[in-house]
Formats: sequence, structure tokens, C-alpha cells
Amino acid sequence: MSERENSGKSLSPKGEGGDAKERPKLDPEREARRRQALSMVRTFGDPALKAKALEVTKFDDGLVEEVAKMSFLMEEAMGIGLAATQVGVMHRVLIYRTGPDAPLIAVVNPKLEWQSEDAESAEEGCLSLPGVVVDVERPLHARVVAATEKGEDMLIEASGLEARVLAHEIDHLDGILIIDHASKEQRREALRILREGPDAARDPAPEVLTA
Ligand SMILES: [Zn+2]
Repeated sequence: MSERENSGKSLSPKGEGGDAKERPKLDPEREARRRQALSMVRTFGDPALKAKALEVTKFDDGLVEEVAKMSFLMEEAMGIGLAATQVGVMHRVLIYRTGPDAPLIAVVNPKLEWQSEDAESAEEGCLSLPGVVVDVERPLHARVVAATEKGEDMLIEASGLEARVLAHEIDHLDGILIIDHASKEQRREALRILREGPDAARDPAPEVLTA
């Protein structure tokens, strides 16, 4: 999911005139930084993405530093969320920021306490699956209990995009990827793109949730 246009709940829903927007060109310096950051993110095939992360038990300076590193990387990669497993750290830690004006939130040991039966399907991308976009159905509302990186209790009542990105990242902590939610057809197409590289994507990637 891109930080550029996630202010609304629209995640390029299917069927609105098939308006596959071209990714706006970044200036070369920013594009180089984005690529550099993406090169630090584990991609499909890496065992870290299929493993279940472990509960954090020590809330120390190391954890605060870990969160700071992840935050930097997520911003540089222009994602709106990042899970520790995506950088090869097997801790139950995730971060997200749902828009340029939204605060960056770090979440440790998240537990999905409740989610609504109301759900919505929308396109998602993943920093770990370059070029892949699939439809994923997620609950519209969710309540997550967790801790901050300092060990304080935290309760998140999330809706829409925030609920979606939280679900995406919690999935990462359990070794689940968006292609695991995709239809058989979309999954097959995604695996082709992963095999052949992002340039093999048939349509230019629209600006969708990438996390
Ligand atoms: Zn992801």
C-alpha cells in the first residue's frame, strides 16, 4: 500500500471503470532510495516469511531500536505497514502508518481480540511480493490488544484501511501472505509474476495498499 493515497477507504476497488492508474514517477534520487530500502525487505521464498514470529518478552533499548529501524525502512520503501518478519526478525512486532498525516504506530505482541463479520474485498500489495496485487477480503472493523515498544498496554479500535493493514501485518507474524488469501486464479498469476519478476505484471500496478 502506498503512502501517497491511502487517505480514504478506497483501495482501488475493482470495477470502477478499470482505472488502472500508472504509478506516478518518483524522482530518480527518491526511486533509488526506495529500491535500496526494498532490497532490505525479505521477499517470497525466504523462510522468514513462512514462519511464526515469537512473542516479545524483553522490552529494552534493543526493541526500541528495532522499531526505529523498521520505521525508517518502511518510510523509505513507501509502504504503509511492515512486520518484523519481513526484515528477518522473528519478533511479534509490526508498524504502520495509514497516511502522510497519520501517526506512525508500533505494535508489539498484537492479539486480535475481535473482528466484525462485515467484511470488504480490496486490492492489496506486499513489499515482500514485488509486482503482485491480489484481492483480499478483510473484516471492516477490528479490535487489537497489544503493547507499545516500551511495554505499555495498548488497545486499537480500527476500521477500514487501518483494520486492513493490521490484519495484513498480523498475518505476516503468522507466516501468512496475501497470496494465501487470493483466488486460485489470482494466486497462479501472482506466482508467475514472482517467478518472472515485477515487469511480468500485466497491468501497471495501481496504487494499492502495499505493506
Ligand atoms: Zn506484506
